[in-house]
Amino acid sequence: MLFERFEKEFPIQMACLKNARKNGRLSHAYILHSDDPELRRDFPTVAAQIAICPFPTEDGSPCGECKGCRSLENGTYPEFFTLEPASKSRIIPVGETSNPEEDTLRWFEGLFYLTSATSEGKKVGVIYDADRMQPAAQNAFLKTLEEPPSSTFFILTTGHPSELLPTTLSRCQMISLISNRCSYSFPWSETLFKTLKALQFDSEESLAKGEDCALAIIEIFSALGDEASDAVAAKWEKRLEHAKDELEAAGRKRIEKRMDAEGGAEYLKRRTCFLSALHCWFSQIYQLSCGAAPEELSNPELFAGLELPQKIDEERALNDLAAAEKFLYDLNFYVDESLAVRSFCLNIVLGNQVTLPARI
Ligand SMILES: [Zn+2]
Repeated sequence: MLFERFEKEFPIQMACLKNARKNGRLSHAYILHSDDPELRRDFPTVAAQIAICPFPTEDGSPCGECKGCRSLENGTYPEFFTLEPASKSRIIPVGETSNPEEDTLRWFEGLFYLTSATSEGKKVGVIYDADRMQPAAQNAFLKTLEEPPSSTFFILTTGHPSELLPTTLSRCQMISLISNRCSYSFPWSETLFKTLKALQFDSEESLAKGEDCALAIIEIFSALGDEASDAVAAKWEKRLEHAKDELEAAGRKRIEKRMDAEGGAEYLKRRTCFLSALHCWFSQIYQLSCGAAPEELSNPELFAGLELPQKIDEERALNDLAAAEKFLYDLNFYVDESLAVRSFCLNIVLGNQVTLPARI
Protein backbone atom coordinates (compact mmCIF):
# COMPACT_ATOMS: atom_id res chain seq x y z
CA MET A 1 0.00 0.00 0.00
CA LEU A 2 1.30 3.41 -1.01
CA PHE A 3 0.32 4.89 2.32
CA GLU A 4 2.70 2.61 4.22
CA ARG A 5 5.61 3.60 2.01
CA PHE A 6 4.97 7.28 2.63
CA GLU A 7 4.57 6.67 6.33
CA LYS A 8 7.92 4.95 6.48
CA GLU A 9 9.75 7.60 4.50
CA PHE A 10 8.02 10.70 5.83
CA PRO A 11 6.66 9.88 9.28
CA ILE A 12 6.43 13.49 10.48
CA GLN A 13 4.49 14.79 7.53
CA MET A 14 2.17 11.80 7.54
CA ALA A 15 1.56 12.21 11.27
CA CYS A 16 0.53 15.82 10.65
CA LEU A 17 -2.01 14.75 8.05
CA LYS A 18 -3.35 11.87 10.15
CA ASN A 19 -3.72 14.12 13.17
CA ALA A 20 -5.54 16.68 11.12
CA ARG A 21 -7.91 13.99 9.87
CA LYS A 22 -8.44 12.63 13.35
CA ASN A 23 -9.28 16.05 14.71
CA GLY A 24 -11.36 17.13 11.76
CA ARG A 25 -8.89 19.83 10.85
CA LEU A 26 -7.88 18.72 7.36
CA SER A 27 -7.47 21.64 5.04
CA HIS A 28 -9.54 21.48 1.87
CA ALA A 29 -6.45 22.26 -0.21
CA TYR A 30 -2.84 21.18 0.09
CA ILE A 31 0.25 22.03 -1.87
CA LEU A 32 2.78 19.28 -2.06
CA HIS A 33 6.33 20.54 -2.54
CA SER A 34 8.72 17.77 -3.55
CA ASP A 35 11.90 17.47 -5.58
CA ASP A 36 10.95 13.91 -6.55
CA PRO A 37 8.53 13.50 -9.49
CA GLU A 38 7.48 10.06 -8.27
CA LEU A 39 6.49 11.44 -4.88
CA ARG A 40 4.59 14.22 -6.62
CA ARG A 41 2.80 11.58 -8.68
CA ASP A 42 1.89 9.30 -5.74
CA PHE A 43 1.23 11.67 -2.89
CA PRO A 44 -2.25 12.79 -4.03
CA THR A 45 -3.50 9.19 -3.81
CA VAL A 46 -2.24 8.84 -0.26
CA ALA A 47 -3.56 12.23 0.83
CA ALA A 48 -6.93 11.44 -0.73
CA GLN A 49 -7.10 8.13 1.16
CA ILE A 50 -6.48 9.97 4.41
CA ALA A 51 -9.17 12.51 3.56
CA ILE A 52 -11.79 10.16 2.19
CA CYS A 53 -11.62 6.78 3.97
CA PRO A 54 -14.82 6.50 6.01
CA PHE A 55 -13.22 4.00 8.42
CA PRO A 56 -9.93 5.55 9.55
CA THR A 57 -8.00 3.83 12.33
CA GLU A 58 -7.70 5.43 15.73
CA ASP A 59 -4.62 7.46 14.75
CA GLY A 60 -6.25 8.75 11.57
CA SER A 61 -4.70 6.30 9.07
CA PRO A 62 -6.87 5.18 6.16
CA CYS A 63 -8.15 1.60 6.56
CA GLY A 64 -6.75 0.44 3.24
CA GLU A 65 -9.59 -2.06 2.86
CA CYS A 66 -12.70 -0.10 2.01
CA LYS A 67 -13.97 0.60 -1.47
CA GLY A 68 -12.70 4.20 -1.36
CA CYS A 69 -9.18 3.25 -0.23
CA ARG A 70 -8.89 0.44 -2.76
CA SER A 71 -10.25 2.33 -5.73
CA LEU A 72 -7.96 5.27 -4.98
CA GLU A 73 -5.01 2.90 -4.76
CA ASN A 74 -5.73 1.19 -8.08
CA GLY A 75 -6.73 4.37 -9.86
CA THR A 76 -10.42 3.58 -10.36
CA TYR A 77 -11.94 6.06 -7.92
CA PRO A 78 -14.57 7.65 -10.12
CA GLU A 79 -14.16 11.23 -8.97
CA PHE A 80 -10.41 11.64 -8.87
CA PHE A 81 -9.96 14.48 -11.35
CA THR A 82 -6.57 15.58 -12.55
CA LEU A 83 -5.15 18.51 -14.44
CA GLU A 84 -1.62 18.76 -15.71
CA PRO A 85 0.42 20.78 -18.18
CA ALA A 86 -0.18 19.97 -21.83
CA SER A 87 2.73 17.99 -23.16
CA LYS A 88 3.87 20.49 -25.76
CA SER A 89 3.58 23.90 -24.18
CA ARG A 90 4.10 22.65 -20.61
CA ILE A 91 1.53 25.16 -19.38
CA ILE A 92 -1.89 24.94 -17.82
CA PRO A 93 -4.05 27.55 -19.57
CA VAL A 94 -7.07 29.19 -18.03
CA GLY A 95 -9.45 28.31 -20.88
CA GLU A 96 -12.80 29.79 -21.94
CA THR A 97 -15.51 30.32 -19.36
CA SER A 98 -18.26 28.77 -21.46
CA ASN A 99 -17.58 25.41 -23.07
CA PRO A 100 -13.95 25.24 -22.02
CA GLU A 101 -11.59 22.88 -23.76
CA GLU A 102 -10.34 19.84 -21.93
CA ASP A 103 -7.18 20.23 -19.85
CA THR A 104 -7.84 23.87 -19.12
CA LEU A 105 -8.38 25.26 -15.64
CA ARG A 106 -12.01 26.19 -16.40
CA TRP A 107 -12.75 22.66 -17.60
CA PHE A 108 -11.17 21.17 -14.48
CA GLU A 109 -13.05 23.52 -12.20
CA GLY A 110 -16.35 22.67 -13.89
CA LEU A 111 -16.00 19.00 -12.89
CA PHE A 112 -16.50 19.91 -9.26
CA TYR A 113 -19.80 21.67 -9.80
CA LEU A 114 -21.48 18.67 -11.42
CA THR A 115 -23.59 16.41 -9.25
CA SER A 116 -21.62 13.68 -7.61
CA ALA A 117 -22.04 10.22 -9.11
CA THR A 118 -20.74 8.17 -6.20
CA SER A 119 -22.39 7.20 -2.99
CA GLU A 120 -19.42 8.61 -1.06
CA GLY A 121 -19.98 11.90 -2.82
CA LYS A 122 -16.41 13.05 -2.28
CA LYS A 123 -14.39 14.56 -5.07
CA VAL A 124 -10.64 14.81 -5.34
CA GLY A 125 -8.95 17.38 -7.57
CA VAL A 126 -5.26 17.13 -8.35
CA ILE A 127 -3.22 19.71 -10.24
CA TYR A 128 0.16 18.27 -11.12
CA ASP A 129 3.03 20.75 -11.59
CA ALA A 130 0.76 23.53 -10.44
CA ASP A 131 3.54 26.08 -10.93
CA ARG A 132 2.86 25.65 -14.65
CA MET A 133 -0.54 27.28 -14.25
CA GLN A 134 -0.57 30.59 -16.04
CA PRO A 135 -1.13 33.50 -13.63
CA ALA A 136 -4.57 33.97 -15.20
CA ALA A 137 -5.35 30.32 -14.43
CA GLN A 138 -4.14 30.68 -10.85
CA ASN A 139 -6.20 33.82 -10.41
CA ALA A 140 -9.26 32.12 -11.87
CA PHE A 141 -8.84 29.24 -9.44
CA LEU A 142 -8.55 31.42 -6.33
CA LYS A 143 -12.27 31.62 -5.72
CA THR A 144 -12.68 27.86 -5.86
CA LEU A 145 -9.72 27.44 -3.50
CA GLU A 146 -11.25 29.89 -1.11
CA GLU A 147 -14.80 28.57 -1.19
CA PRO A 148 -14.57 25.06 -2.59
CA PRO A 149 -17.71 23.17 -3.60
CA SER A 150 -18.78 20.91 -0.74
CA SER A 151 -16.98 17.59 -0.22
CA THR A 152 -14.01 18.38 -2.40
CA PHE A 153 -10.35 17.96 -1.58
CA PHE A 154 -7.66 19.63 -3.68
CA ILE A 155 -4.00 18.74 -3.96
CA LEU A 156 -1.59 20.86 -5.98
CA THR A 157 1.87 19.44 -6.55
CA THR A 158 4.99 21.40 -7.42
CA GLY A 159 8.76 21.20 -7.47
CA HIS A 160 8.99 25.00 -7.42
CA PRO A 161 6.62 26.53 -4.87
CA SER A 162 8.25 29.94 -5.26
CA GLU A 163 6.81 30.07 -8.77
CA LEU A 164 3.25 29.93 -7.48
CA LEU A 165 1.43 33.19 -6.83
CA PRO A 166 1.45 34.16 -3.15
CA THR A 167 -2.33 34.31 -3.27
CA THR A 168 -2.43 30.65 -4.32
CA LEU A 169 0.09 29.65 -1.65
CA SER A 170 -1.80 31.43 1.08
CA ARG A 171 -5.03 29.55 0.38
CA CYS A 172 -3.44 26.12 0.71
CA GLN A 173 -1.49 24.30 3.32
CA MET A 174 2.01 23.33 2.24
CA ILE A 175 3.58 19.93 2.78
CA SER A 176 7.22 19.39 1.85
CA LEU A 177 8.53 15.93 1.02
CA ILE A 178 12.12 16.42 0.02
CA SER A 179 14.09 13.31 -0.79
CA ASN A 180 17.46 14.78 -1.75
CA ARG A 181 18.12 16.88 1.28
CA CYS A 182 21.08 19.10 0.70
CA SER A 183 23.23 19.62 3.71
CA TYR A 184 24.13 23.20 4.40
CA SER A 185 26.67 22.66 7.10
CA PHE A 186 29.88 24.18 5.85
CA PRO A 187 32.37 26.07 8.01
CA TRP A 188 30.72 29.42 7.53
CA SER A 189 27.09 28.38 7.63
CA GLU A 190 26.54 29.39 11.24
CA THR A 191 27.81 32.91 10.58
CA LEU A 192 25.75 33.08 7.41
CA PHE A 193 22.46 32.14 9.05
CA LYS A 194 23.07 34.44 12.02
CA THR A 195 23.80 37.27 9.60
CA LEU A 196 20.72 36.59 7.49
CA LYS A 197 18.55 36.51 10.58
CA ALA A 198 19.94 39.89 11.69
CA LEU A 199 19.56 41.29 8.20
CA GLN A 200 15.99 40.15 7.70
CA PHE A 201 14.57 40.68 11.16
CA ASP A 202 16.72 43.03 13.22
CA SER A 203 17.82 45.66 10.76
CA GLU A 204 14.55 47.39 10.03
CA GLU A 205 15.39 50.51 8.07
CA SER A 206 18.84 50.79 9.56
CA LEU A 207 21.35 51.29 6.80
CA ALA A 208 24.23 50.86 9.23
CA LYS A 209 23.02 47.41 10.24
CA GLY A 210 22.55 46.52 6.59
CA GLU A 211 26.14 47.50 5.97
CA ASP A 212 27.34 45.36 8.90
CA CYS A 213 25.58 42.37 7.38
CA ALA A 214 27.02 43.14 3.96
CA LEU A 215 30.53 43.19 5.46
CA ALA A 216 29.94 39.86 7.19
CA ILE A 217 28.82 38.27 3.91
CA ILE A 218 31.74 39.79 1.98
CA GLU A 219 34.05 38.35 4.62
CA ILE A 220 32.57 34.89 4.08
CA PHE A 221 33.12 35.23 0.33
CA SER A 222 36.72 36.09 0.97
CA ALA A 223 37.15 33.19 3.41
CA LEU A 224 35.66 30.84 0.81
CA GLY A 225 38.23 32.16 -1.66
CA ASP A 226 41.09 31.52 0.78
CA GLU A 227 39.81 28.02 1.51
CA ALA A 228 39.63 27.26 -2.19
CA SER A 229 43.20 28.43 -2.87
CA ASP A 230 44.48 26.54 0.17
CA ALA A 231 42.80 23.34 -1.00
CA VAL A 232 44.31 23.67 -4.47
CA ALA A 233 47.74 24.60 -3.10
CA ALA A 234 47.73 21.56 -0.81
CA LYS A 235 46.95 19.36 -3.78
CA TRP A 236 49.86 20.75 -5.81
CA GLU A 237 52.35 21.20 -3.03
CA LYS A 238 53.88 17.74 -3.31
CA ARG A 239 54.13 17.86 -7.04
CA LEU A 240 55.86 21.21 -6.93
CA GLU A 241 58.20 19.93 -4.23
CA HIS A 242 59.12 16.89 -6.33
CA ALA A 243 59.81 18.94 -9.38
CA LYS A 244 61.68 21.64 -7.49
CA ASP A 245 65.10 20.91 -8.92
CA GLU A 246 64.38 19.92 -12.45
CA LEU A 247 61.65 22.49 -12.98
CA GLU A 248 62.66 25.44 -15.11
CA ALA A 249 61.03 28.81 -14.58
CA ALA A 250 58.64 28.38 -17.49
CA GLY A 251 57.37 25.04 -16.14
CA ARG A 252 56.78 26.51 -12.72
CA LYS A 253 54.83 29.34 -14.24
CA ARG A 254 52.62 26.89 -16.14
CA ILE A 255 51.82 25.05 -12.95
CA GLU A 256 51.05 28.26 -11.13
CA LYS A 257 48.68 29.25 -13.91
CA ARG A 258 46.91 25.92 -13.65
CA MET A 259 46.62 26.27 -9.90
CA ASP A 260 45.06 29.66 -10.40
CA ALA A 261 42.44 28.28 -12.76
CA GLU A 262 41.70 25.38 -10.43
CA GLY A 263 41.44 27.76 -7.51
CA GLY A 264 38.86 29.80 -9.41
CA ALA A 265 36.78 26.71 -10.20
CA GLU A 266 37.05 25.49 -6.62
CA TYR A 267 35.94 28.88 -5.36
CA LEU A 268 32.87 28.92 -7.62
CA LYS A 269 31.95 25.46 -6.39
CA ARG A 270 32.06 26.64 -2.79
CA ARG A 271 30.25 29.84 -3.63
CA THR A 272 27.44 27.91 -5.32
CA CYS A 273 26.86 25.88 -2.18
CA PHE A 274 26.93 29.07 -0.11
CA LEU A 275 24.43 30.81 -2.41
CA SER A 276 22.15 27.82 -2.42
CA ALA A 277 22.10 27.92 1.39
CA LEU A 278 21.27 31.63 1.23
CA HIS A 279 18.43 31.01 -1.21
CA CYS A 280 17.12 28.16 0.91
CA TRP A 281 17.01 30.50 3.92
CA PHE A 282 14.79 33.04 2.17
CA SER A 283 12.55 30.50 0.54
CA GLN A 284 11.97 28.75 3.88
CA ILE A 285 11.23 32.04 5.63
CA TYR A 286 8.66 32.64 2.92
CA GLN A 287 7.14 29.19 3.44
CA LEU A 288 6.91 29.90 7.17
CA SER A 289 5.21 33.21 6.46
CA CYS A 290 2.61 31.29 4.43
CA GLY A 291 1.84 29.12 7.43
CA ALA A 292 4.15 26.13 6.91
CA ALA A 293 5.20 24.42 10.12
CA PRO A 294 8.96 24.24 10.76
CA GLU A 295 8.90 20.45 10.52
CA GLU A 296 7.47 20.71 7.03
CA LEU A 297 10.51 22.55 5.74
CA SER A 298 13.19 20.72 3.80
CA ASN A 299 16.03 22.17 5.88
CA PRO A 300 14.70 23.21 9.28
CA GLU A 301 18.26 22.95 10.67
CA LEU A 302 19.01 26.33 9.10
CA PHE A 303 16.99 27.96 11.86
CA ALA A 304 18.46 25.92 14.72
CA GLY A 305 19.29 28.10 17.70
CA LEU A 306 17.92 31.26 16.10
CA GLU A 307 14.87 32.97 17.45
CA LEU A 308 12.61 33.85 14.56
CA PRO A 309 9.62 36.15 15.00
CA GLN A 310 6.32 34.42 15.78
CA LYS A 311 4.56 36.06 12.90
CA ILE A 312 6.38 36.79 9.65
CA ASP A 313 4.88 39.25 7.23
CA GLU A 314 4.10 37.34 4.05
CA GLU A 315 4.53 40.19 1.61
CA ARG A 316 7.83 41.23 3.15
CA ALA A 317 9.08 37.62 3.07
CA LEU A 318 8.17 37.37 -0.60
CA ASN A 319 9.97 40.64 -1.34
CA ASP A 320 13.05 39.42 0.46
CA LEU A 321 12.99 36.16 -1.49
CA ALA A 322 12.80 38.20 -4.70
CA ALA A 323 15.80 40.27 -3.53
CA ALA A 324 17.76 37.07 -2.87
CA GLU A 325 16.87 35.73 -6.30
CA LYS A 326 17.96 38.99 -7.90
CA PHE A 327 21.25 38.77 -6.01
CA LEU A 328 21.93 35.25 -7.31
CA TYR A 329 21.06 36.41 -10.79
CA ASP A 330 23.38 39.42 -10.56
CA LEU A 331 26.27 37.25 -9.42
CA ASN A 332 25.78 34.93 -12.38
CA PHE A 333 26.49 37.84 -14.64
CA TYR A 334 29.82 38.68 -13.05
CA VAL A 335 28.69 41.84 -11.37
CA ASP A 336 31.29 42.96 -8.84
CA GLU A 337 30.70 40.68 -5.84
CA SER A 338 31.00 43.23 -3.06
CA LEU A 339 28.75 45.63 -4.91
CA ALA A 340 26.14 42.91 -5.44
CA VAL A 341 26.27 41.95 -1.74
CA ARG A 342 25.80 45.58 -0.67
CA SER A 343 22.91 46.14 -3.02
CA PHE A 344 21.27 42.89 -1.84
CA CYS A 345 21.56 43.87 1.83
CA LEU A 346 20.18 47.32 1.10
CA ASN A 347 17.30 45.73 -0.75
CA ILE A 348 16.40 43.65 2.29
CA VAL A 349 16.60 46.67 4.57
CA LEU A 350 14.76 49.04 2.24
CA GLY A 351 12.28 46.62 0.70
CA ASN A 352 13.74 45.85 -2.71
CA GLN A 353 14.29 49.29 -4.23
CA VAL A 354 17.89 49.12 -5.36
CA THR A 355 18.69 48.06 -8.91
CA LEU A 356 22.20 47.47 -10.06
CA PRO A 357 23.35 48.70 -13.46
CA ALA A 358 22.92 45.76 -15.83
CA ARG A 359 26.56 44.84 -16.22
CA ILE A 360 29.70 46.14 -14.66
ZN1 LIG B 1 -10.61 3.02 3.84
